[in-house]
Amino acid sequence: MTRVTEKQLLDEIDARRDDLIALTQDLIRIPTLNPPGRNYREICEFLAERLGASGFTIELIRATGAIADSAKYPRWNIVARHNGARTGECVHFNSHHDVVEVGHGWTRDPFGAELDNGRIYGRGACDMKGGLATSIIAAEAFIATHPDYHGAIEISATADEESGGYGGVAYLAEQGYFDPARVQHVIIPEPLNKDRICLGHRGVWWAEIETQGRIAHGSMPFLGDCAVRHMGAVIDQMEQYLFPLLAGKHTAMPVVPDGAKQSTLNINSIHGGAVEQDADYTGLPVPCVPDCCRIVIDRRFLIEEDIAEVKREVTAMLDQIKAQRPNFKYEIRDLFEVQPTMTDRNAPVVRTVAEAIQKVLSRAPEYVVSPGTYDQKHIDRIGKLKNCIAYGPGILDLAHQPDEWIGVQDMVDSAKVMALTLAELLLPKP
Ligand SMILES: [Zn+2]
Repeated sequence: MTRVTEKQLLDEIDARRDDLIALTQDLIRIPTLNPPGRNYREICEFLAERLGASGFTIELIRATGAIADSAKYPRWNIVARHNGARTGECVHFNSHHDVVEVGHGWTRDPFGAELDNGRIYGRGACDMKGGLATSIIAAEAFIATHPDYHGAIEISATADEESGGYGGVAYLAEQGYFDPARVQHVIIPEPLNKDRICLGHRGVWWAEIETQGRIAHGSMPFLGDCAVRHMGAVIDQMEQYLFPLLAGKHTAMPVVPDGAKQSTLNINSIHGGAVEQDADYTGLPVPCVPDCCRIVIDRRFLIEEDIAEVKREVTAMLDQIKAQRPNFKYEIRDLFEVQPTMTDRNAPVVRTVAEAIQKVLSRAPEYVVSPGTYDQKHIDRIGKLKNCIAYGPGILDLAHQPDEWIGVQDMVDSAKVMALTLAELLLPKP
């Protein structure tokens, strides 16, 4: 086997800087908005051509029958695989190709991919087309300098991460693409900053709580039963009891930012009483006592907590109100749940990326856990693959914001970290 020095590999990344910029721009210029899921086929075909030319075997996979898959908006994914000269372990880079809506407040063209002062601007620049481009450049540079490596490199670009990942990574995991017999290391280049390794995320439980009353004329509320007042009692009890309880639950997980190092609960929405009319309705509302009020809660829980206990806290609170408040009736419905996950710091992919960060950036990595979930949940739960992290360039706070951007030097540095990681995991030890 020819020995190429680490310096030669890193020089090869520097030599591809313009290619990295152009690739990132090309990806941003394909507006893969989700919802509804536009141009998924187009971006997969673009990547198929690019990676096919670099010697990858291409599979385009439609998540037929998955949530949101339709003839108008099919959920397309790409898995590209490059086999080395001999068998060995497989390193998989998984990026989502969907981006969220543009929103207001932009001063740049959201799909123009303008390069200005070392930054590329556009929706999805940081979350996460910059990370996708970075992993492609890292893989191509490694393959070019080490054509006789052992094992395999996979690059996937998947649908719908922003809306749960069911037409993307979850579907691929169900088809066996993240079986530990096939893939041994997974890196998700989400924008966690180039010197941080994200080990996992907190858990999620979404539920809808409904209070019930009885409709009557608004001038005689004593003849009805106001469901909004019952919900007021629920929210009051949350303020008095539940929020302080959650604020007292701290985790040993290194969650960022600091405010997320405890259990949290958000009330995502509240609806009660008459349905709001369209803006073109010019009449007055009608006087009725609301017979129904609903809230959606978003509870984020810690690896130290048990989801059954998390749910019991809320139902116990509701039952306590019921015991004290006349005519209090409620229903609670589960909407969505995800278990927390955290990869071991001594897992091979964590150790290897940590060493590469030290070499490229001359500092130790920071280990973090994400406050919200991402596609690691499916790789962990369906794929049963634990050796998985999120690591990629980009500043997390810029995700989903107007004038989102990715720094070119951050991408170059991250590509070097990824390339050294491939070298460590896929080259036989001398
Ligand atoms: Zn993302």
